[in-house]
Amino acid sequence: MLHSYSPAGEAPEIFYNERIDQLTSDPEKKILTELVSLDVGKSYPDELLARHCSWKIGGPADLLVEAETTEQVSNLIAFVRARQIPLVVIGQGTNLLFDDAGVRGVVLKLGAAFSRIKISGNIVTAEAGVWVPQLARLAMRAGLAGLEHCSGIPGTLGGLVLMNGGSQRKGIGENIRRVWVVDSHGCPQVLTPVDCEFSYRSSALQRRGDVVVKVELECPSGDIADIRHAMVSDLRERRRKFPRKVPNCGSVFLSTGEMHEAVGPPGKIIEEAGLKGTRIGAAEISQQHANFILNTGHASSSDVLALIAQVRKSVAQNIGFELRCEVHYVSPQGVVIPADKAHSV
Ligand SMILES: Cc1cc2nc3c(=O)[nH]c(=O)nc-3n(C[C@H](O)[C@H](O)[C@H](O)COP(=O)(O)OP(=O)(O)OC[C@H]3O[C@@H](n4cnc5c(N)ncnc54)[C@H](O)[C@@H]3O)c2cc1C
Repeated sequence: MLHSYSPAGEAPEIFYNERIDQLTSDPEKKILTELVSLDVGKSYPDELLARHCSWKIGGPADLLVEAETTEQVSNLIAFVRARQIPLVVIGQGTNLLFDDAGVRGVVLKLGAAFSRIKISGNIVTAEAGVWVPQLARLAMRAGLAGLEHCSGIPGTLGGLVLMNGGSQRKGIGENIRRVWVVDSHGCPQVLTPVDCEFSYRSSALQRRGDVVVKVELECPSGDIADIRHAMVSDLRERRRKFPRKVPNCGSVFLSTGEMHEAVGPPGKIIEEAGLKGTRIGAAEISQQHANFILNTGHASSSDVLALIAQVRKSVAQNIGFELRCEVHYVSPQGVVIPADKAHSV
């Protein structure tokens, strides 16, 4: 049975399989009909990806599946692998640029069903769909430190782990003890931090093609008032520095340690190159923070990619530094790569 997408908590409007009849060619129709009859979760055909990312950009996926259990994730991966159908896993889409053509394949979303958190002593076990600010708040209330730097990151834990996300030059990898994944064959596995190879805003998970389903974190004990104070300061700083009302994807360009030392953070370099306010189509470099690109109306993925290319070219010419992207681009073929590499797809 297929559903039309509705935000968590609202009853979805139900479409039946005749929707598939209007969809695709015969072989594709057969595959999708087979897939939605399996136990993989809720299926949404032709789902607009702009609804699933903070940039509000992106065309339709052939099928978006919202899995509710690890078994459903395994079933889906095994199915698409056997038929060589592209599969893209997403969280809240706060670090993703979808193409205007969408994805010719299946997009897997881990959401509300993967939201359990358990705290026992210094160990926090949380599922991949957990909303990161909520995780940081619960840890704080339990007197656990170390996640303050994540309290304003608007994504899921799965996306955070894959990106080794964080702020103040920290990354979530520093607190990770174990990661439960479903591998690219559909088999559940448990990984150690060594397997994950965490480095600045990167992990081996980006290459392995695993789907993160659960994470175990170890957090040192701390004073609740101190932890709260650090979180409030972080959130206040973000409100002051980051554009909030216009759709964006956070920092577009990576700010590595070596870059900081050599030339400073990307926002400063882009500002010094005189690029604040530069526009291509409806994509604009924020006046408030030059490492943010805003979707000021109906920006297309090509607008954003062209603006990224222009910034990289100007910065390379001005200071001889090659900016790399933190934001990932999702091609219509379902390939996920740093957005500065998009032209090579
Ligand atoms: C306003 C704003 C501020 C931000 N500030 C920060 C910041 O301070 N620090 C920071 O690091 N980031 C920041 N970000 C970027 C983003 O929020 C993080 O990278 C976040 O961790 C991504 O989570 P997500 O659920 O949105 O993942 P998505 O954007 O949906 O996906 C990101 C990557 O993870 C993969 N992925 C997602 N879920 C899974 C899973 N379960 N298993 C395997 N792979 C998965 C996707 O394929 C993709 O490659 C910010 C974004 C915004 C919009």
